Amino acid sequence: MIELPEATVIARQIATTLTGKRIASAVANQSPHKFAWYTGDPAEYNQRLAGKTIGTACALAGSIEVEAGDMLVSVSAPIRYHAQGAKRPQKHQLLITFEDGTAMSSSAQMWGGFLCFPIGERSGSPDRDIALQRPSPLTDAFDRAYFQTLLDADTLKLSAKAFLATEQRFPGLGNGVLQDILWTARIHPKRKTADLPAASIDALFAAVKGVLADMTAKGGRDTERDLFGNPGGYTTILSRNTVGTPCPACGAVIRKEPYLGGAIYYCPGCQPI
Ligand SMILES: [Zn+2]
Repeated sequence: MIELPEATVIARQIATTLTGKRIASAVANQSPHKFAWYTGDPAEYNQRLAGKTIGTACALAGSIEVEAGDMLVSVSAPIRYHAQGAKRPQKHQLLITFEDGTAMSSSAQMWGGFLCFPIGERSGSPDRDIALQRPSPLTDAFDRAYFQTLLDADTLKLSAKAFLATEQRFPGLGNGVLQDILWTARIHPKRKTADLPAASIDALFAAVKGVLADMTAKGGRDTERDLFGNPGGYTTILSRNTVGTPCPACGAVIRKEPYLGGAIYYCPGCQPI
């Protein structure tokens, strides 16, 4: 599980660190995981990848997509780089070793896709097919007019959290980044979108664009780690790091509670229900 800012940061780091390296071997599914997905038989990954050279890398929603010769490796879990001689994790769902002795590995957190398929073909993942058709909130194509089209009869019945983080309306926007987005827009996660005044809808659009861009520019959130294992430079306002501490805007104590299959964090002062 990974979200758009960190996927973008790690993809950029891969593009500058791994591009041009030739793959010596690949091991997939070494540590079986109940919620790890592969393309076909993971035992075939070595055959698909050995001898291929790393090309470009980019983010697609919450996945890091890496070209390896004529194949595409699409990973929706954190990827770590291992220098020559550096210790590698004992458990992993994907380990790619390069001919120069360096490596990259990835392990599922709650879940993760570790797809590997020919470039230009379909991955077999319906989520990926949807993400390909929708503009990323980090691009200019995701503008105020497009945002308005997402508010329809169905989504007006939803809470702000469900609107932002379900059905891939916002590719790569998950339960992590949405906390600071809603705080910035001063909207409680349980507020129904239909009840939001026009000014709050404008604020929500601005927060989706602004907070995601800020998180990405700062190298991801401080609760997550990058390709080199370093935490990101974006200081989260609402996260496990700040629950129980005063809100930086109003001083009320930041709360955490379960809602819709995951925790929500909010400021009772800034985000009244
Ligand atoms: Zn507050």
